[in-house]
Amino acid sequence: MTVSSFFSATYSEARDKFLKACADRSLAVKSHLNDRAKGAEGEDLFMDVSRIGPENASKILILSSGTHGGEGFCGSGIQVGLLQEGFLKGLPDDTAVILIHAINPYGFSHVRRVNEDNIDLNRNFRDYSKSLPDNKPYREVHDMIVPTDWDGPAREAADQAIQAYIADKDLFTFQAAVTGGQHVEPGGLFYGGQAPSWSNETLRAVVKEHAAAAKHLAFIDFHTGLGPNGYGELIYVGDPAGIDRAKDWYDNEITSPADGSSTSAIVEGTIDGGVCEMAPGAVHTCIALEYGTLPVMDVLNALRADNWLYIYGDIQSDLGRQIKKQVRDAFYCDNDEWKGKIWERGHTVVSKALAGLDRS
Ligand SMILES: [Zn+2]
Repeated sequence: MTVSSFFSATYSEARDKFLKACADRSLAVKSHLNDRAKGAEGEDLFMDVSRIGPENASKILILSSGTHGGEGFCGSGIQVGLLQEGFLKGLPDDTAVILIHAINPYGFSHVRRVNEDNIDLNRNFRDYSKSLPDNKPYREVHDMIVPTDWDGPAREAADQAIQAYIADKDLFTFQAAVTGGQHVEPGGLFYGGQAPSWSNETLRAVVKEHAAAAKHLAFIDFHTGLGPNGYGELIYVGDPAGIDRAKDWYDNEITSPADGSSTSAIVEGTIDGGVCEMAPGAVHTCIALEYGTLPVMDVLNALRADNWLYIYGDIQSDLGRQIKKQVRDAFYCDNDEWKGKIWERGHTVVSKALAGLDRS
């Protein structure tokens, strides 16, 4: 098998490869239908889950793809590669691996970062019994990032406003204002929603089913779109008390938005919070494996374009098709060199996680 063959061009192809790779290893798959949306080709959408290892395992490693929809081309490829290349075999008796394919299948199929409700899942895992934040920094940049036209005067003015904002502050301050997460503009970017999404509730149920009684839960959520092209940054997320353990497991390569060492700004309502809540008695060691694609402004502009397209544009137009390619390129570098780096880093990090779990 060549590494490139692990990866797919569409959600349907990725799902087929994942299901076949599970079947080839005689692994059962539980498929959770998202009945609130359809795929880009009219297909049904599923979060697919497979477990390797004994029912009573006290140590659980969760490997998940597609939290951010189109970023799933990367994570799915790693999951398929792990299955096809014989990884995740010979696990210790007390260990199980849970593979979760396409946490956000709508976004995966439509090549969008958001879900069917324009929600960024990695900002959606909040306690909704408490009041939501006002997101002043986001309010300041919203009009700049969501212009009413994409190839006319509104876009031009918006771009100039962004340049002025960055000149006045700096690029990372702009990135933090845009990407930190917001609950005030349902049509905006990095919108966290007003309630738990389908993916949120489904993922919680999956983790509860598999890890409610776990003593140690390790979590690797695969992402793309930040950092140097082809590099996989290990971003520590969750309880600050656990960061030293993560550094030990991952050879000190851990970064953290909290201490400013990550390419990611501080974000709230992230997925690891929901995952950890479903395994309340466990020690948690959670990371996002974030692979670089394009420069950060190129990625943000692709997201602005996609957001504009679904509010004001026509997906079937030339501009619409051009924007969809722009978004795909921002989250998936469709060349053998990039995929080779993604795979190499991916299986190495998974092996380190299993070794770390075994030691703990
Ligand atoms: Zn992501």
